Amino acid sequence: MARIRLDHIRHAYSADLARSGNYALREVDHEFEDGGAYALLGPSGCGKTTLLNIISGLLTPSEGHVRFGDRDVTLLSPEARNIAQVFQFPVVYDTMTVRENLAFPLKNRKVPKSEIDRRVTDMLQRIGLAEKADRRAQGLTADEKQKISLGRGLVRSDVNAILFDEPLTVIDPHMKWQLRSQLKELHRQFRMTMVYVTHDQTEALTFADKVVVMYDGEVVQIGTPEELFERPKHTFVGYFIGSPGMNVLTCAVEGTDALVSGTRIAIPGGARPTKGAAKTELGIRPEFVRLVPRGQGMPVTVTRVEDIGSERIVRADFNGQKLVAIVGEGEGLPAEADVVFDPSALNLYADSWLVDRS
Ligand code: ATP
Repeated sequence: MARIRLDHIRHAYSADLARSGNYALREVDHEFEDGGAYALLGPSGCGKTTLLNIISGLLTPSEGHVRFGDRDVTLLSPEARNIAQVFQFPVVYDTMTVRENLAFPLKNRKVPKSEIDRRVTDMLQRIGLAEKADRRAQGLTADEKQKISLGRGLVRSDVNAILFDEPLTVIDPHMKWQLRSQLKELHRQFRMTMVYVTHDQTEALTFADKVVVMYDGEVVQIGTPEELFERPKHTFVGYFIGSPGMNVLTCAVEGTDALVSGTRIAIPGGARPTKGAAKTELGIRPEFVRLVPRGQGMPVTVTRVEDIGSERIVRADFNGQKLVAIVGEGEGLPAEADVVFDPSALNLYADSWLVDRS
């Protein structure tokens, strides 16, 4: 295993695209710690796969360097980097049995037979294919074939890192949970550096110790799931993570208060916006917007209530701005409601970036 360092990486898919400033990755400078479990999370087209392929060596970046430990690997092939990769769609050897598929990368590396048997048998259990160990891969479902791909990547413990590109796309939803927790368990046990690309926040937040959030070719925040939830550094992170995402309300700043559509809201620790900001906004997650009886908070007009079983999602108009609240099971929903914001959950943004209050 090795620490993976990305030094000022930029990538354009052609010289023409570079000339017109059309970069798939605009500037990525980041270090993946040895043995960490990372997710690369972001919307379609933000550059996740491009970045993963630059780490694996399938792509050479237009600019910048990739380092494994102290070694510059920017120009090395994927094989020379000693990386295991699991793609969105299964890559299996159809004529081999499940067991042979898993043993293949180990045989290639001249691992002793008894060790191969031990590791493969263990992995067959983990991916739930022990009973089909001696079946040819050919006749298996896409779901099962993808489990073989996962197993083949995970069975190698000598690699510098394991890279996953949306590996659970073809997996049945029930099995997804199980495989995800197996991945986590394997990570705990073997402490392999894992980088997992997904656009699904649940997948990212349950798998990773650290989530790298990408937007439009750049990394906008790296943090634990808790940090991303509590202190999104950019309004995009607040909105993208969470279900529904964070409310972002246009506001003005007066003294240490925020003024949202004429309503004064005190910011704990003081507002202190960056001087000269063209736009200031207040972020509050729907989980921290409480609905109270009329007269006890700030007036809103409820426009829609969606009951999703365990909770209700309330959409409201707050002096011309849209506001979403989550009302938990057993909590009352007044017919005529006002809202109260939990002060500790307020975040102030200047030109979309969090104003640090620490
Ligand atoms: P998705 O989740 O849809 O796979 P992504 O976040 O992985 O998206 P990338 O596939 O890395 O994003 O793409 C980043 C940008 O680079 C996009 O604008 C995409 O259109 C562009 N791109 C990707 N591959 C190529 C290519 N081979 N040639 C030209 N442009 C490309």
